[in-house]
Amino acid sequence: MRLGHRPERDKRITTHVGLVARAFGASEMLLTGRDAHIEESLKDAASRWGGSFASIRRLLEGRGHSLEGGGRKVVHLTMYGSNLPDVIDEIRGCQSLLVAVGAEKVPAEMYQLADWNVAVGNQPHSEVAALAVFLDRLFLGRELVEDFAGGLKIVPMQHGKQVIYPEHTEKI
Ligand code: SAM
Repeated sequence: MRLGHRPERDKRITTHVGLVARAFGASEMLLTGRDAHIEESLKDAASRWGGSFASIRRLLEGRGHSLEGGGRKVVHLTMYGSNLPDVIDEIRGCQSLLVAVGAEKVPAEMYQLADWNVAVGNQPHSEVAALAVFLDRLFLGRELVEDFAGGLKIVPMQHGKQVIYPEHTEKI
């Protein structure tokens, strides 16, 4: 869940949050606020590159409404939280998780609503980096070898580029 997206400033970073969420094993992205452009780019990535990422669900910004996990346990990534290595084993025990990242300033209630406030190191950096590292530790690296069925496939190689295209797919 991306909190506090500001369409004029955060377009690129919010898109990257979505791309990282998808590539690192999340099943969907929740966005507070509305930005058709971001929804479009993420839908496009999900349809071209396969897998089961359900792109974006939009949430209304507002008390309780957007910040609760809808039955899921909630992790809020913040440099003020418990440091990741101290809590990740406990978090990994959850069946279903909502991971929230902020933009500029996160509403104070998020810190109370979260089941875990988690720092990826207690230094300021980036929501994109924090999300990537968190998901990688959560899934123990398994997401890097996941098969994203039904989309373009890159053939990994040391030099050069090779892509396998499903039928009727535009070249990249
Ligand atoms: N000044 C903002 C605040 O007080 O919340 C932080 C802005 S930071 C550029 C944007 C987001 O990056 C934060 O809301 C948080 O989700 C994430 N973030 C930055 N550093 C982090 C860290 N060390 N650990 C976890 N998340 C971090």
